[in-house]
Amino acid sequence: MRRSLIAVLASCALLTALAAPAAAHSTSGEGSGDVDTTQLPVGGDPVSAAEVGKVFSCQTSFPSDVPGAFATGDWFNGDGTWDLTKKPTVDGSVTWPDANITITTSGSQRVISGNGLPTKQTTGTYPVASSDDAYSYDRNPNSISAQTVSISLPKNPKVASTPTCVGLGTIGILKSGVQVFNALDAGGRDAVAYEIQDSCQGHPERSGTYHYHSISTCVLDKLDGGSGHSKLVGFAADGFGIYGPRGTNGEAVTDADLDECHGHTHKVQWNGKKVKIYHYHATSEYPYTVGCYRGTPVTTNG
Ligand SMILES: [Zn+2]
Ligand SMILES: [Zn+2]
Repeated sequence: MRRSLIAVLASCALLTALAAPAAAHSTSGEGSGDVDTTQLPVGGDPVSAAEVGKVFSCQTSFPSDVPGAFATGDWFNGDGTWDLTKKPTVDGSVTWPDANITITTSGSQRVISGNGLPTKQTTGTYPVASSDDAYSYDRNPNSISAQTVSISLPKNPKVASTPTCVGLGTIGILKSGVQVFNALDAGGRDAVAYEIQDSCQGHPERSGTYHYHSISTCVLDKLDGGSGHSKLVGFAADGFGIYGPRGTNGEAVTDADLDECHGHTHKVQWNGKKVKIYHYHATSEYPYTVGCYRGTPVTTNG
């Protein structure tokens, strides 16, 4: 059976839903501290207006019988939390020598093109083999394949008057070349908790697009070393940056430190300078990356 996760790639990226005005949210950018990855709240429960700790989803109804992850295991603690350290992963160590991405600037635009394959990591073996323990939970039948990625984003995005919902499909792209999807699976569940990914937290959807629902620890290892505020690891479809999990004090930022869209505004390194600008943080806590767009998203071609 084919997964229907990405029937429509970012088709609603330009829909602006009615939403409450964003609360003024400005901090020094400090993080609150580590998140317990053995007791992560199970997310899901998408909302139709921006809300801290949620996904403001363009899609408002989800089918209950979807292909994809069909069973859960002992990584669900039974109390509304799940244990990342116990979750199985898809086996394999596949290299992608043809992976490529270029990021250039042209006038007011940042131009990103590539083939969607990961430049900084290996992937699991897909389709999931019947001999893989992951097969007991998620029989992802898709193969990873090269895509045409071509997107122009504003180099200096502006905060919009209202947040915009995120669609299923591409909501951003990492400097490593891999696309980022929102935190939901096709059934509106927490994709990171339910779906089985490889050891770099990625998997393909039915058109072969390899993607993450949270930022890969393999990518963070390569792009976000050091201490202090995390480095830029990618760009959301509204042009704002996605940074790793650490705040200015080097501690992990949590949902409590971030606004409805999973970001905040303070000085960070941006376009080669230190400037005060809105940015998203990728964390290990739902909704993991972008909960809604704080700026104005451009259409992506997935
Ligand atoms: Zn920050
Ligand atoms: Zn997925």
